[in-house]
Amino acid sequence: MPGRKLQPSRLAQSPSTKKASRLRPRLLAWYATASRDLPWRRTSDPYAVWLSETMLQQTRVNTVIPYYEAFVREYPTVASLAEAPEERVLSLWSGLGYYRRARMLHAAAKRVVSEHGGQLPRDVAALRTLEGVGAYTAGAVASIAFKRRAAVVDGNVARVLARLFAIEEDVKTSLGAARLWSLANALVPDGDEDPGDWNQSLMELGATVCLPKRPACDACPVRDLCAARRRGIADRLPRTAPKRRPTEVRRTAIVVASADAVLVARRRVGALFGGLWEPPIGDGDGLAVAQSLGIDGTSLEPMGRVVHVLSHRRLIIEVLRAPLSPRARRRPWPLPGPEYDAAEVVAIAAWRRLPHATLARKILATARGIGL
Ligand code: SF4
Repeated sequence: MPGRKLQPSRLAQSPSTKKASRLRPRLLAWYATASRDLPWRRTSDPYAVWLSETMLQQTRVNTVIPYYEAFVREYPTVASLAEAPEERVLSLWSGLGYYRRARMLHAAAKRVVSEHGGQLPRDVAALRTLEGVGAYTAGAVASIAFKRRAAVVDGNVARVLARLFAIEEDVKTSLGAARLWSLANALVPDGDEDPGDWNQSLMELGATVCLPKRPACDACPVRDLCAARRRGIADRLPRTAPKRRPTEVRRTAIVVASADAVLVARRRVGALFGGLWEPPIGDGDGLAVAQSLGIDGTSLEPMGRVVHVLSHRRLIIEVLRAPLSPRARRRPWPLPGPEYDAAEVVAIAAWRRLPHATLARKILATARGIGL
């Protein structure tokens, strides 16, 4: 008996696409009523989508909102951002972390103006040629701003897909990530449904219902389609290798200050916190750091300790304070170390406007509330 041939339509219907046809309308209907009202969702301006998606990388929504609003107020268009001084861009980013994002955004804005007539490119491949725009950001801008059929996979989407489809591979490995991207690509709608809304519905479900530790499955609009829930393994997915313990790094900061002025130094571009200002920090003890600044080590007063955790490092910084005399205020200051490219005394009111990281704020706060 001749073998029965499979119909092309059946061949094309993978489990994910069958499930997608049931998932999409439900998740999109839920997103239409349950999505949070966020400032960047009130506009379809591609620049606003790009800016918000860049700020949201590794950063919580509530942290991003005031930064986004201040940024858009001062630089409402790609062209205005392209013309901005980098120091001001970094200053508006101060406290948001991952400062490389701000420098890349600024460089990309200049290129959008010089090479694309001030309009963001519409497709993923062209978007990805811009500085700092990876697969996720390109997919988000193309789908949300330009309604292109493009997938996104961020932490929220990875978690939702891993659970809905019970993916047991480590999602941080290249194999696991490839599987998620391929699934996300297969799921993006190409008909009447909006690919941007679809991507945002997955992200929103991950951010508000399908939470990392305790997914609220009872409130989930697609709970009956969820393979992980059915198998009782939702809170064990997605799988990832245990995180490496951050390396402990000990440093000493010296806050040379008077009542209204403070010595700060700028880190070189390329160093950690490149382009940002901070009180001088060195890897020796207080006397060694004081020597690098040409100040009297016997005048140092211990103020406390700051602990600051970065993705792979745990910085433990002893904070010392030294007086700033009127004469010292006017003298030229040496660079405290090779990672710095400028050092100067500034009024405390002016310091708040300089680009700086949260770490610098913590150090100055420890030195008797400076900068608060
Ligand atoms: S049922 Fe639970 S685990 Fe599955 S997608 Fe919904 S919230 Fe996530």
